[in-house]
Amino acid sequence: MPSVYIKTYGCQMNERDSEAVAAQLVAKGYSLAASEHVADVVLLNTCSVRDNAEQTALNKMTSVIGLGKKERPGQIYGFMGCMAQSRGKELIDRLPDVDLVLGTQKFHRAAEYLDELLAGKRERIVDTADEQGSEGTIKEHLLNGAAKDKAVTAFVSIMQGCNQYCTFCIVPYTRGEERSRTIPDIVAECRQLVAQGVKEITLLGQIVTSYGRRGDVWTAAGSEAPRRFQDATELHDAKAPSPLRSAGALQKSAFVQLIEAVHEIEGLERIRFTSPHPKGYGDDLVEAYARLPKLVESAHLPVQSGSDRVLKLMHRGYTRARYLEVIRKLRAARPGIGITSDIIVGFPGETEADFEETLSLCREVEFDNAYLFKYSQRKDTPAAAMPDQLPEPIIEERHARLLELINEIGKRKYETFVGRQTQILVEGPSRKNSARMSGRTRCNKIVIFDGSERHRGQLLDVKITRVGSFTLYGDPAIVGL
Ligand code: SAM
Repeated sequence: MPSVYIKTYGCQMNERDSEAVAAQLVAKGYSLAASEHVADVVLLNTCSVRDNAEQTALNKMTSVIGLGKKERPGQIYGFMGCMAQSRGKELIDRLPDVDLVLGTQKFHRAAEYLDELLAGKRERIVDTADEQGSEGTIKEHLLNGAAKDKAVTAFVSIMQGCNQYCTFCIVPYTRGEERSRTIPDIVAECRQLVAQGVKEITLLGQIVTSYGRRGDVWTAAGSEAPRRFQDATELHDAKAPSPLRSAGALQKSAFVQLIEAVHEIEGLERIRFTSPHPKGYGDDLVEAYARLPKLVESAHLPVQSGSDRVLKLMHRGYTRARYLEVIRKLRAARPGIGITSDIIVGFPGETEADFEETLSLCREVEFDNAYLFKYSQRKDTPAAAMPDQLPEPIIEERHARLLELINEIGKRKYETFVGRQTQILVEGPSRKNSARMSGRTRCNKIVIFDGSERHRGQLLDVKITRVGSFTLYGDPAIVGL
């Protein structure tokens, strides 16, 4: 049977989509190749969030094809995911040796299309059409053998698409409208993962706090007596009088109901989710942190900017004050919660004063870490047509300043762990040094320690002895064995 090499660019959703495609192909008898040099099929799962990511994938495909033509005639080439969706057939016009272009609603068709291409039944396939129900097709996992060792953690896709339409972002155009899976469907997948040894599940979506906004999340579409729930975004609109407490009871968004349902799974130790939207962080979700012990004390809350003027231009739907209020409530509900963020530097029209507001917000919040993005103009997004696009050197200079601040705050925060005992879930050998084991604290910090394979999957208390760059080290002598 043919072998396939899949390379993934971009976010955790892309990683998850690639895993589902790999699992689908393995189930059909394909083997997974370690590199493009030994594969019959090369698939690049692409990202469109920044131009950089698109160029990297295009360059990679150009070099793979160049080498493949010499070394592996007959090799099949495919683009999948966001760039495949946004560029479609244009990719084949640009690189005529590409055989397959698979959009974001078509991952589940990879095996069928590759079979046709390998059998010579079709010369080229481009499929970027919308497909109803595709949100429920990213289900297969590769937990054991094949690509990974026995997995302790798993990502579960709960929805597809995005309706937020931030002015900088291409995602609503590449991933389509928000569509959520049902709670029973998601819980069944989680149960199966736990039965296979998974201890920690991360619920995944572009904006998970919008989960279940449309339609019914308890029963399949079209079935009788649908139970409808408001989504967190509507419930927690900052301007509206709080509808959260009706007759003293806290109304729960569909997302919180989903967390509760997953929380009931016996044998599951930890629940995470990513990415939420700050706008969707209502009191019901904050309260869930205080009430549900499996929901770990960690939150990734993309702020993007500390300036209200820029937040408005970005169409983010919250103010700096509202964001800080969410952080305050989360810290009150779960002291020690780890908070990370995404920040865009150099949005069109961002002044030095706006940027300084971002710096001051970072000082105020003290993020444990933040992913910094240099603003990138994306085709057909409103921000691409805004005046005052900033020159590269200004973006570079602000990025360097912000990075220095984030690193300095992160180092300080990580150092507070030294000497403390903390619980980790052991995931497997460290990526950088396979002689050591790697685990994660509940607040999402990686801990490296001298353990062995028998620790995999265990919840261990370790004492932190020193810090590296966004990494903690535990003393093996004090590992609770
Ligand atoms: N759910 C997230 C949110 O609440 O905004 C969006 C996830 S997005 C795929 C990941 C990150 O990419 C965003 O948070 C943003 O910081 C960054 N990003 C998106 N569009 C960008 C652009 N045009 N230029 C630079 N960074 C961008």
